[in-house]
Amino acid sequence: MKAELIAVGTELLLGNIANTDAQYLSEQLSALGITVHHHTVVGDNPERLAEALEAARNRADIIITTGGLGPTYDDLTKQTICKTFGRALELHEDILEEIRSWFLTKMGKEMPENNVQQALLPVNCTVFDNPVGTAPGCAFEEGGVHVLMLPGPPFECRYMFEHRASQYLEKLTDGVIVSHEIKIFGMGESAVEQALREPMTRLANPTLAPYAKLNECMVRATAKAATAGEAEALLSPLIRQVQETLGDVIYGIDVESLEAVVSGLLREKGLTLSAAESCTGGLIAKRITDLPGASQIFRGGVVSYTNEVKSAVLGVPQDILDEFGAVSESVARSMAERCRAICASDLAISVTGVAGPGPDCCGNEAGTVYIALASEKETICQKLSCGRGRGRDRVRTAAASHAFDILRRWLAGLPQRA
Ligand code: ATP
Repeated sequence: MKAELIAVGTELLLGNIANTDAQYLSEQLSALGITVHHHTVVGDNPERLAEALEAARNRADIIITTGGLGPTYDDLTKQTICKTFGRALELHEDILEEIRSWFLTKMGKEMPENNVQQALLPVNCTVFDNPVGTAPGCAFEEGGVHVLMLPGPPFECRYMFEHRASQYLEKLTDGVIVSHEIKIFGMGESAVEQALREPMTRLANPTLAPYAKLNECMVRATAKAATAGEAEALLSPLIRQVQETLGDVIYGIDVESLEAVVSGLLREKGLTLSAAESCTGGLIAKRITDLPGASQIFRGGVVSYTNEVKSAVLGVPQDILDEFGAVSESVARSMAERCRAICASDLAISVTGVAGPGPDCCGNEAGTVYIALASEKETICQKLSCGRGRGRDRVRTAAASHAFDILRRWLAGLPQRA
């Protein structure tokens, strides 16, 4: 099945907002085994929307629109779609009642009269009610093409896709589609693709597709079969082959993130962590405390950005700072050991480096980062080059991810990367 996404909204064309609905929907559709061939963005203009719909109906099996379902005069998605596909709109009393009661309970006021048009939906459509907003979505089939309309606000779009539209789409693709995400850190997308080229190009079902993510990549294995069990049976030898080929750069399958894996390992081993951060500015602490229940494994940290804080708060000896400079193995080791003592944690991770854009006063290039991990048994340290030339944010995110990978490897008893 081929799908096309049409986002409706002048704000998108003006660049006021990014088309995040399209990004989300493309990812979800690919997980359902539906290929997205085109993304189109049109303003709140019925003629140009009609042109986009005409083009889409000639080349796609599924058209999904986002936006333009609101109550205002420029919300013309439903009207334009119905005109293009020759369908009438009819009032759905039950939906109107839902919208009225949504206003009363959520907004504490009567529904404004112009919201009545949100209860106008194409004749003989599948209605997607919207418990998280007012605009209902819907779907219908005309001449072999399925048209789905979803609201623009990202939260509503996601909710409606996950709870309503995906069920509609699953029925179109006979059988069950199961996919697993193999998450990789420490190997680039092209190296992964090269290593897995043979199964990627040979296989039609199950399939393997690589995706580049920020500082890491992912391979999605997808299988289609009559039942979930049969799909899993197709997937397991393929996943084993990927594991054997890529080895320990795989940090998890169907896991949320590197930090989630680290958090799970800490929990499993009953260990606590603290962090002494210089160039990452608290990013490690942020990422680990984004996870629920972080207080059980994370004791705290120090953002020791200047030498004064490194020495006065953490207690890094001044002579080490003077002799080796802040961006050095000796300082990273001392930061981790001092942080572990101050925070009374089992493990402490430290990061000191140059976020850039230029080199530091000692000639260390932007992206030079030392990461140390202190435990009761030992302190290990790695010098890395993180995201050089790609801006401060990339250097910091990459450094934090490397820190989590060093922790993951240490906790799992895996060798550190050379
Ligand atoms: P509403 O009932 O809120 O009017 P709607 O379906 O009519 O919903 P729009 O009016 O087109 O949606 O957009 C509402 C808001 O949703 C926009 O101001 C924008 O913030 C967000 N939005 C719309 N489309 C997108 C998109 N494709 N990606 C991300 N955000 C979007």
